[in-house]
Amino acid sequence: MVQASSTLGRHAVVVGGSMAGLLTTRILSGYFEQVTILERDRFPTEAPAPRKGLPQCTQLHILLTRGRQIMEDLFPGLESDLIDAGAAVLDMGADVEWMNPFGWTARFPSGFKALSFSRYILDWLIHRRLSEFSNIQILEASYVTGLLTNSDKTAVTGAIVRRREGEHSEQVQQEELSADLVIDASGYSSQAPKWLKAIGYDAPEETVITTSMGYASRLYEIPADFQEDWKGVYIQADPPKRTSMGVLYPIENNRWIVGVCGTAPNRPSTNEAEFLEALRNLPSPHIYNAVKDAKPATAIGIYHPPGNRLRHYERLSRQPQGFIALGDSVCSFTPIYGQGMTVAALGAVLLQQCLQETALTELPSRFQKELARVNVTPWIAATSQDAKYPSVKGLTQPPSLPEKAIGWYMDRLIQLTTKEPQVTLVLFNVFHMVQSSGALLQPSILFRVIQQLLTRSLSRKSSKIQVSTSSITSR
Ligand SMILES: Cc1cc2nc3c(=O)[nH]c(=O)nc-3n(C[C@H](O)[C@H](O)[C@H](O)COP(=O)(O)OP(=O)(O)OC[C@H]3O[C@@H](n4cnc5c(N)ncnc54)[C@H](O)[C@@H]3O)c2cc1C
Repeated sequence: MVQASSTLGRHAVVVGGSMAGLLTTRILSGYFEQVTILERDRFPTEAPAPRKGLPQCTQLHILLTRGRQIMEDLFPGLESDLIDAGAAVLDMGADVEWMNPFGWTARFPSGFKALSFSRYILDWLIHRRLSEFSNIQILEASYVTGLLTNSDKTAVTGAIVRRREGEHSEQVQQEELSADLVIDASGYSSQAPKWLKAIGYDAPEETVITTSMGYASRLYEIPADFQEDWKGVYIQADPPKRTSMGVLYPIENNRWIVGVCGTAPNRPSTNEAEFLEALRNLPSPHIYNAVKDAKPATAIGIYHPPGNRLRHYERLSRQPQGFIALGDSVCSFTPIYGQGMTVAALGAVLLQQCLQETALTELPSRFQKELARVNVTPWIAATSQDAKYPSVKGLTQPPSLPEKAIGWYMDRLIQLTTKEPQVTLVLFNVFHMVQSSGALLQPSILFRVIQQLLTRSLSRKSSKIQVSTSSITSR
């Protein structure tokens, strides 16, 4: 059993037992005598498996390297647990065929490793680790419906929860759980704004940017005779021209997870023929050829994620003590950029910093302000890409000149990946949040962009000269 190290308070309650809730609980266990997760679902007991409250968990999930590093710090040995459980280890430069809008990224041994596994195996392993802590309790079938407050409503003092006792019991009991701190980690469907309004506070303003993206995923058994020089394939969308994309990654149990995305009216469906057709229509047949004769291991699962939503808790003029929100509840993204779990992990790390440096009474306003800063870069990364989709909704103004310049520069870098491994490596580090975006402006990268521009303009000039000499000769 792992014991608590120091205590800031007696009891913290975490609403939601998915990635944001699990990681936050690990942090809180070092600062509170007791931490309770309240989760509306029941968790799988025998083996890793999907669950109802996490409908996205059957869809492809990429864990960015920064997120993996944080999780490894919080749960030492988690990476080896994942590998022991069958996660595939991929060298992102050598093992993955990446088709970007300018062609194929040049393959090279990059030393940049990623682990590939199903989302539910990660939750399962972390959940198992948390159960080793003597001061953590996980209450399943516990649906939070509101917040408790003190008499003058200046502080949240707990949560109101409807609990179902036995696994098959229909009997629901309403309970009140008092706590020094309540953390909302209940994801996109979080009702926290309503809970705040019910105790006399404003709901946070929201920014919502959507693209009507649809996801379809399916697991396949990797055929015994499969022989290619790649382990995974990523065919990137090229909006506004082409909004579909496809991914194939190996995961545990010798399976591929194959996903295809598209925006309305071309969202993928659960229909077998349509799923294969969507794969066949991608600009490269890699994925289609790999799976067309492979044995499916599951049905096709679809999911229509709601899109990017930012709740501006940091702008609230009044915030109650004893309550904070993080994870998808505050900031959720179009999933194709693979940022959600890592941003949840960054939120947990920030919470730790704040708990170390801030009195509990000051925590909510400091935490929400700093979380807003953490969310800025991934939010811009997701929404600036989504802005290229014809179906985008919620943009209040066209991209500004600096935003256009950043977009143009990013395109040049992506274009360079077709022949410059060094650029690809820096992009991996930035996309995986290991380095800040400032790394994209380092002299060696700038030099390559300028060199590419000069080469292109020289070759354009020389082809014009050739055209005019040939027209003189032919006269
Ligand atoms: C299709 C899809 C693909 C994705 N792919 C990726 C990817 O590749 N990489 C990546 O990093 N992220 C990805 N994400 C995002 C990722 O799943 C989330 O960011 C991540 O799970 C963290 O979210 P969360 O814990 O804040 O909320 P969620 O994962 O939504 O979990 C919320 C939890 O709260 C519980 N809950 C809700 N309401 C209550 C209540 N009132 N009382 C008690 N419990 C409650 C729910 O049952 C659930 O367990 C994807 C998302 C989708 C939709």
